[in-house]
Amino acid sequence: MNIRPNVVNFHFVDFCNYRCCYCFVNKINRMTSFLDIKLIVDNLADYFKQLLAPGRINLVGGEIFMCSYLQEIIDYINSKGIDVSIVTNGLLLTNEFLLNNVNKIKCIGISVDSLEYDTNIKIGRCCGKKVLTKDELINKCKIIKKLGYKLKINHCISKYNVNEDITKLLEKVDVDRFKIFQMSIVEGINDCCKNKQVTINEFRDASRKYLKYNPIIEEESEMKSSYLMIDSSGDFYIDRSDAPIGNVLEESFISLMGRAKLDDASFVKRYIQLQG
Ligand code: SF4
Repeated sequence: MNIRPNVVNFHFVDFCNYRCCYCFVNKINRMTSFLDIKLIVDNLADYFKQLLAPGRINLVGGEIFMCSYLQEIIDYINSKGIDVSIVTNGLLLTNEFLLNNVNKIKCIGISVDSLEYDTNIKIGRCCGKKVLTKDELINKCKIIKKLGYKLKINHCISKYNVNEDITKLLEKVDVDRFKIFQMSIVEGINDCCKNKQVTINEFRDASRKYLKYNPIIEEESEMKSSYLMIDSSGDFYIDRSDAPIGNVLEESFISLMGRAKLDDASFVKRYIQLQG
């Protein structure tokens, strides 16, 4: 492996306030304890120290705002000199949180699969009947930008939204990074949604309408070996459909990375635009 990745995705919480039918998170109602999070961050800090570029931990769920000690996690990661980014569905993202975390978080990612109420309800991107409306979403994105955060939008394409578009959002907000994913299947977790997956040609066609926003377009096959992921039990994966490489609570991350077979080209495509 030539690339030495400096971004690790930590899925420390399985809970979510949404219930997207194609969610690939193994929702077994688990959240990493703060004690274990500190051990994992310390382990990652040793790995990042070996790199020339600063490290970044991307906090992902489930939904990260379901965790009552999220702020403590962010502060602890910061105390180790590691950058933090987060991904959220946005419903529980508050102005107070944004005001408190300027200079603590490098990038805020929001997953947006549809701007339509009915589509979000069909997908399960809702808490009861509550969805984030287009105007609420635009407002939150504008505040994120006004406060100086980098803003990322993640957009997953499936049969539900393949004929829609979210340009009404992209026109109104200056997004720093826009990622489009082909909805992927992880056997045993979301395979019930196989019939909602778009073909590669449908995905490419649907992505084309966004080209003027310079998206990072990720086909299902490209996601397989470029996503460094630690789950809520500390298991470390490069490919979610494979067995874990090992556990970061039991082994040094440096040693785990020695066994990771990363697809360098996909990794560069995934992360290069957020460096620097
Ligand atoms: S918002 Fe994300 S984590 Fe939550 S159910 Fe949907 S896909 Fe899964």
